[in-house]
Amino acid sequence: MSKNILILPGDGIGPEIVTEAVKVLATLRDDFGLDIDMDEALVGGAAIDATGGPLPGATLDLAKEADAVLLGAVGGPKWEPLDITIRPEKGLLGLRAGLGLFANLRPAILYPQLADTSTLKPEVVSGLNILIVRELTGDIYFGQPRGVRVLENGERQGINTMVYTESEIRRICRVAFDLARTRHKRVCSVDKANVLECTELWRQVATEVAAEYPDVALSHMYVDNAAMQLVRNPKQFDVMVTGNMFGDILSDAASMLTGSIGMLPSASLDEHGKGMYEPIHGSAPDIAGQGVANPLATILSVAMMLRYSLGDAGLADRVEAAVSRVLDQGLRTPDILSQGMQQVGTEAMGDAVIAALVAGA
Ligand code: NAD
Repeated sequence: MSKNILILPGDGIGPEIVTEAVKVLATLRDDFGLDIDMDEALVGGAAIDATGGPLPGATLDLAKEADAVLLGAVGGPKWEPLDITIRPEKGLLGLRAGLGLFANLRPAILYPQLADTSTLKPEVVSGLNILIVRELTGDIYFGQPRGVRVLENGERQGINTMVYTESEIRRICRVAFDLARTRHKRVCSVDKANVLECTELWRQVATEVAAEYPDVALSHMYVDNAAMQLVRNPKQFDVMVTGNMFGDILSDAASMLTGSIGMLPSASLDEHGKGMYEPIHGSAPDIAGQGVANPLATILSVAMMLRYSLGDAGLADRVEAAVSRVLDQGLRTPDILSQGMQQVGTEAMGDAVIAALVAGA
């Protein structure tokens, strides 16, 4: 049966990069037999302009019905003066919550062709391939009580609560262990079990889950050490699993090891493998409309969609190989340009990936 993909271009460079990713999906459909149909809907600032809110009910309904969602990016200076409750970014949070997307997968992969774009020494990062699995719907971002209150002595006090149930920890750990089985079979669970009871429980449950996966090696690391090790010797890691807040910070640090925000895809999955796929970067208002944005993170998000929601790892491999081939050819958007390489724009980069995909068939 045909799989339905909802396309949400969003704002800024979103429509430009999503156009290239949709061209790749259309090529996979027309030339490689991928059985899909695509719908498009509004989210973020574009939805605010058209409907008054960042996540129209019609968009959420289509997202719920779809087998997978491809998102560009949302936000921009135009909507910054709006109240925080109706800003474009709320559309994104509403999609994550509405679809129950609890598992955020962020690969940090450094293509050898781009080793000199990292701020770290090439020998430290060349060949880097880490997968960070971040819990996305729990932790201190959602725990109660929260807020700012005034104490009896008149002083203000801010409160947020770190909270995880056993079942929430178990399901994200299982995602990490399952993925480790497809990779190098190593999981590093990151916590702060020496001072936070909540993450002491995290460590216990991670250890219990490990017993279900005797073929996967589990290690534990405190988050402060993990931050240091990511910069000191990142290639020691295979899969890292952690809570929402630690994952938020560590995944941004890990992504920058690769030096190129325009290259990194992500997936957010529910319990049944349905997912929302998006580049990790934002709407880049500073370069929107210029035709220079790097579409490769969005195209690589399509590869993740093929692997995790459409059950076609073979086509995912082909898309990733096509991206690698284009980098071999020396084509670069300005964000990854280095000496001796050929500068191209968004559309030419998308066309080159499609040509490489078809040539590699
Ligand atoms: P950003 O990721 O949009 O941009 C940071 C820098 O990276 C900019 O210089 C930009 O030009 C560059 N960049 C980003 N993507 C690129 C690409 N594909 N090719 C080439 N260069 C690229 O982050 P920001 O400037 O902090 O945020 C801009 C807007 O995006 C804000 O409104 C923010 O809230 C929003 N945002 C949205 C998401 C999302 O939709 N998931 C994520 C982060 C930020």
